[in-house]
Amino acid sequence: MPSPEQQTVITRFAPSPNGELHLGHARSALVAHGWARSNGGRFLLRIEDIDIARTREHFIAGIFEDLHWLGLTWEEPVLRQSLNFPAYRAAADRLSAMGLLYPCFASRTKILAASDPGKTDPDSVPLYPGLSKHRQPAAIEEDMKAGLPHALRIDMQRAIECARTKLRGAPLTFLELDADGHATTVEAHPERWGDAVIIRKDTPASYHLAVVVDDARQGISHVTRGRDLFASTDIHRLLQILLDLPEPLYHHHALITDANGRKLSKSAGDTSLRALRAGGMTAAEVKRLALAGL
Ligand code: GLU
Repeated sequence: MPSPEQQTVITRFAPSPNGELHLGHARSALVAHGWARSNGGRFLLRIEDIDIARTREHFIAGIFEDLHWLGLTWEEPVLRQSLNFPAYRAAADRLSAMGLLYPCFASRTKILAASDPGKTDPDSVPLYPGLSKHRQPAAIEEDMKAGLPHALRIDMQRAIECARTKLRGAPLTFLELDADGHATTVEAHPERWGDAVIIRKDTPASYHLAVVVDDARQGISHVTRGRDLFASTDIHRLLQILLDLPEPLYHHHALITDANGRKLSKSAGDTSLRALRAGGMTAAEVKRLALAGL
C-alpha cells in the first residue's frame, strides 16, 4: 500500500462500455477504490468510450448500477472519453509536429496479408509491416486531399530516440508497486509494439493515447489495473515522456481466470455481475470472490 505522506493517492477505474462488467472488473474497481480509500485519497471513474460504434448507453447505466451495488462511491462528474476527442487530437498534433506520426491508409486485410505472423506484439497481433511508412509526401498528399480514411501511426524507432534524448540517455522505466506498495523499477520496451496506432481510422483517438492524456488530466497518481495491460505501460511511458506528462505509479493486479486458466472476458460471455446479482449472490459475496487470492 502506498504511504500517504508521499503524495495524495488518486486512483481510477476506467471501463469500456461495450459489455457488462464481470468479476475481473469488480476486482479492478475494488483494488482502485481500496487504495484510494485506505490512503485518504480520491477515487475517480472514467468511461472509456472512444469506440463509439460499440458503446451502448445501457452498458454505461449498468456500470454505475453494478459499482453502486458493490458499495463504491466516486467523484462527479464522471469523465467520458467521447467528450474529450479534441484533447486527444491536440496531443496527436504535438507528436505530429515532432515528426513522430505518419498516416496509414492501408486496410486491416492488406496489413495482415503483408505482415509476418511470426512477429507479433505483446497482444499477439502481427507487427505492422511498415506498408505506409516510406511513401512519397506527394502520394500521401493526394490521398489526404481525396479524404481517404487513415490511421496515424507512431514511428516507433524515432519516438524512442526522441524520448531517450529527453531522458538524456537514461532508459525508459516505470515504477511497479506490488500489493503492499513496494516499488520495483521496470524497464519499458515500447519497441516490441512496433509502429502502433495513435489515432485510429474509425475514431479520432486510440486506447494508448486517450489513457495517457486522461490519466494526466485527472491527476491520477496510482494507475491500478489488470496484468493484461502490463505490457501496454511500455507505450504509455513513451507517450508520457514525449508529451511531458507526469509519471504515475503503476500496480497491475493478478487476473481472475476461469477453470481453464483463461482470463474472464465480456465477449466470451463470462458471468456478469448483473447475472450474479440476479442469481441471488450478495454484494459481500461477490466482493469476497473478486478479491480472493490477491
Ligand atoms: N478501458 C480499459 C479496459 O476496459 C482499461 C484501461 C486502463 O485501466 O488503463 O480494459
